[in-house]
Amino acid sequence: ATTSGKTLTVGLIPADGIGREVIPAARQVLEALPSDIMPARLRFENLNAGFEYFQKHGVALPEETLVALKSECDGALFGAVSSPSHKVAGYSSPIVGLRKQMDLYANVRPVISSEASTASGKKRAIDMLIIRENTECLYIKDEKQYEDAGGKYAIAKRRISEHASQRIGDMAFSMALQRDGMRQLATAAERTWSGRPKVTIVHKSNVLSVTDGLWRETVRGVYEGNEKYRSRVDVEEQLVDSMVYRMFREPEAFDVVVAPNMYGDIISDGAAALVGSLGLVPSANVGDNFVVGEPVHGSAPDIAGKNIANPIAAIRSAAMLLERTGYDAAALAIYRAVDRVLADGTIRTPDLGGSSTTTEVVDAVCKQL
Ligand code: ATP
Ligand code: MG
Repeated sequence: ATTSGKTLTVGLIPADGIGREVIPAARQVLEALPSDIMPARLRFENLNAGFEYFQKHGVALPEETLVALKSECDGALFGAVSSPSHKVAGYSSPIVGLRKQMDLYANVRPVISSEASTASGKKRAIDMLIIRENTECLYIKDEKQYEDAGGKYAIAKRRISEHASQRIGDMAFSMALQRDGMRQLATAAERTWSGRPKVTIVHKSNVLSVTDGLWRETVRGVYEGNEKYRSRVDVEEQLVDSMVYRMFREPEAFDVVVAPNMYGDIISDGAAALVGSLGLVPSANVGDNFVVGEPVHGSAPDIAGKNIANPIAAIRSAAMLLERTGYDAAALAIYRAVDRVLADGTIRTPDLGGSSTTTEVVDAVCKQL
């Protein structure tokens, strides 16, 4: 075993509901990594945030959490927040605040099929990475209602900038290369994609020629202006509507998909449905200097506190954090361990039709490691 003397400090923000079960689960898996594949020493910082915290202390994302993240952590894992059913004065979502404060401009979601998760029952090798721009588009929430002789109407502004399109484009192509590197570490049997990595640029520039036109041109420009990308990555474009059609008919055709905020939002949820339970799908909020892994599911109050939440989405989110912080082999080991547990099929939480507990899944994954 090697000890490089390096330390990886991970902030843990379980927040609400099953976040308090799945984040400790992910931590246990990180701690089970053998030192020959995880050369850095792991340190954890337990940090507060969430709706429950807000109800007690009047703030959902406390300043000391932000300070600890910025000054002490290399990355973080976020559980889930309960969303209040009605508007609560003074409350705003801590994960949205975190993305802003840490400039996490990309939301990254791998969508991976496994034998336990293929919705159609047919085994398909889906292995795509959806990269969603997360700072602009229609979600700048600049909308207004008016009224004229014809009645009420409303207008929403959509912002697409060269700066945001450029950095997300760059992230898409560099992640395509990183994925290619991960594939080289994997065995042939584990590889679901052969050949050069590919980036699909999603847009609707035949209709929105100014906004999506700028997006398309800018992302293409990133590719064309970079010799490393041109020589090692393929690029294609797809209109968002036909992209969705193709994603359901032929999801194995995609490798990396990059999309503006709203298309990316819709595509990501649709893609999650292709691979079954929400409890399996991880994500990462990524910026240039920081990464926050986050399971896609919410706080699931209906099953919270019962030790039956599926921890796999959170465990895979921890692996994404490792990938982003430069520990590819350790990340691969976690993906592999999870795949083996899913393929074996004896240990499954209720959302996958089994009767195992969260703890049993964690133990099974750790044992594989
Ligand atoms: P929130 O307000 O936090 O979004 P929610 O009720 O919408 O809470 P989600 O977490 O979005 O809950 O989950 C939707 C459904 O999927 C729930 O029935 C929940 O039990 C189930 N679910 C979500 N995550 C998991 C998981 N990790 N394991 C098992 N079931 C899950
Ligand atoms: Mg929800």
